[in-house]
Amino acid sequence: MSGADARLTRLRRSLAESGLDAMLVSALPNIRYLTGFSGSNALVVVTPTDCLLLTDFRYATQVKQEVVDGVRSVIEESSLWLRLWKELRALSGTQVIAFETAHLSHLDAARFLDAASDGSRWLWRPSVNLVEVLRESKDASELARIREAVRIAEQALAATLPHVGAGVTELDVAGRLEHELRRAGSEGFPFETIIAAGSRSALPHARASRQVIVRGDLLLIDFGAVYAGYCSDITRTFVVGAPPSERQVEIHAAVREANGSASALVRAGMRGRDADALARDYLQRRGFAEAFGHSLGHGIGLEIHEAPRLAKSADAPLPMGAVVTIEPGIYLEGWGGVRVEDDVLLGSAGSEVLTGFTRELLQL
Ligand code: ZN
Ligand code: ZN
Repeated sequence: MSGADARLTRLRRSLAESGLDAMLVSALPNIRYLTGFSGSNALVVVTPTDCLLLTDFRYATQVKQEVVDGVRSVIEESSLWLRLWKELRALSGTQVIAFETAHLSHLDAARFLDAASDGSRWLWRPSVNLVEVLRESKDASELARIREAVRIAEQALAATLPHVGAGVTELDVAGRLEHELRRAGSEGFPFETIIAAGSRSALPHARASRQVIVRGDLLLIDFGAVYAGYCSDITRTFVVGAPPSERQVEIHAAVREANGSASALVRAGMRGRDADALARDYLQRRGFAEAFGHSLGHGIGLEIHEAPRLAKSADAPLPMGAVVTIEPGIYLEGWGGVRVEDDVLLGSAGSEVLTGFTRELLQL
């Protein structure tokens, strides 16, 4: 059974367990996961015996190249939604249909109401995360893609660092890094590259700005690559143009220790909150509880932020085969911040850190 067949089989099993006859999939990453199709406009209907993909004329060729066996593709020239009602009417035994509440605009939801007023025979059931849950555990082909996205990111970072020094701006660094990502084979940027120098490094999600980097600045770089649709996500923090100060060394060592022990100890089966505590408890003992204000990590895959979550509020156990980030940080307003982020596979033999780039506090 190929990976794609297995995915549809797992989804069909979960639909049957929930008493659903079919599911309308509108989230593009879920569509890509189930069918292989990576275009920007599509709807998918999965029934126990059929999987129908509706898209438009722009993708007529792409569909032939990408869509896996067992999926029926339909090219619609005007409205995917009108075509959807027509195709649904032709599917016998399809009455109770799940839709994805998190991935439907109000405008699109209104179409359900319209269709319902037209003597509809369908019962629409709101659903959350039916496909996302399947995506948590990566199969071998997904894992190979993530490994390649990690390799590309690390190659790009290594090629960028020689161009970083006092006097350049954060935007200069972002531009160089994005150039090197493309050169190394990244299809795009999974999120806006974070380059934060000096006191701006205390902003966990700072966007690159025109700020000029000066001697002695901390420099936080958080970025990723995309390969065959799959993302990597990595953060390293450096010091620019001067040996690190005692305080910079101390803070960086605490973050590194939190990162290293959490990466080594995180396991499939552990609740997300217990994984989060692996780093949080250590930082708390060191007196940095207040300075680590975000969660420890998140799953990566077709999306840069996906399930599972490693957070204080996450009760769900981490599934075997998930790839998650471990990204503790210390942020001190007005002084600066340090984060060290790695991508970690939760395997049957324990955790495997996929990112290998040095975690030393390098002086650039
Ligand atoms: Zn990141
Ligand atoms: Zn992250």
